[in-house]
Amino acid sequence: MMFINLIYIIMGLQFVNFAEVAKSRTHEWRMSPGITVCNHSGVHSHRVSQSIKYWERLGYKFDYIRYDDSINCGEPRYGEIIITLPNQDFNFGDHLASTRITISNKTKEIVKAKIFMFPKSANKERVLEHELGHALGWPHINQPFHIMNSNWHTGGHNSRGLKVYYKNYID
Ligand SMILES: [Zn+2]
Repeated sequence: MMFINLIYIIMGLQFVNFAEVAKSRTHEWRMSPGITVCNHSGVHSHRVSQSIKYWERLGYKFDYIRYDDSINCGEPRYGEIIITLPNQDFNFGDHLASTRITISNKTKEIVKAKIFMFPKSANKERVLEHELGHALGWPHINQPFHIMNSNWHTGGHNSRGLKVYYKNYID
């Protein structure tokens, strides 16, 4: 594997309202990411499958879904989205969850994503769907009832603008 320079982008879902302009998508996967769920994240498998189905209905494909019960579960492999607990240096604040994506400096594609689910919101409605959206490269879209709304209270299941089929790249 060639050397990859990593750029981190952090986005989160909050309870508090703040103004943020809806932006178009900036990064995307060129492969179908696999998903690893760390069991210590406390996210139930039915929440995981509901969230995955949400994005599959919009045309997104995932390579695999696996559960990992090892204590050091937390680092995504290349090509993987991992769902884990936040580490201690994370400022919880008003956040429910947070996602960090890793971009290849060379190709600008997303190569890894890490979803931090705070224990209080591990199984809260819409939170994992929203964070998976970030993991897939979507920014906040602050329209009422939108899944990518940055404020949980004014968000919803609306997926307007998200039905973008990303091409699987076959080399
Ligand atoms: Zn967010």
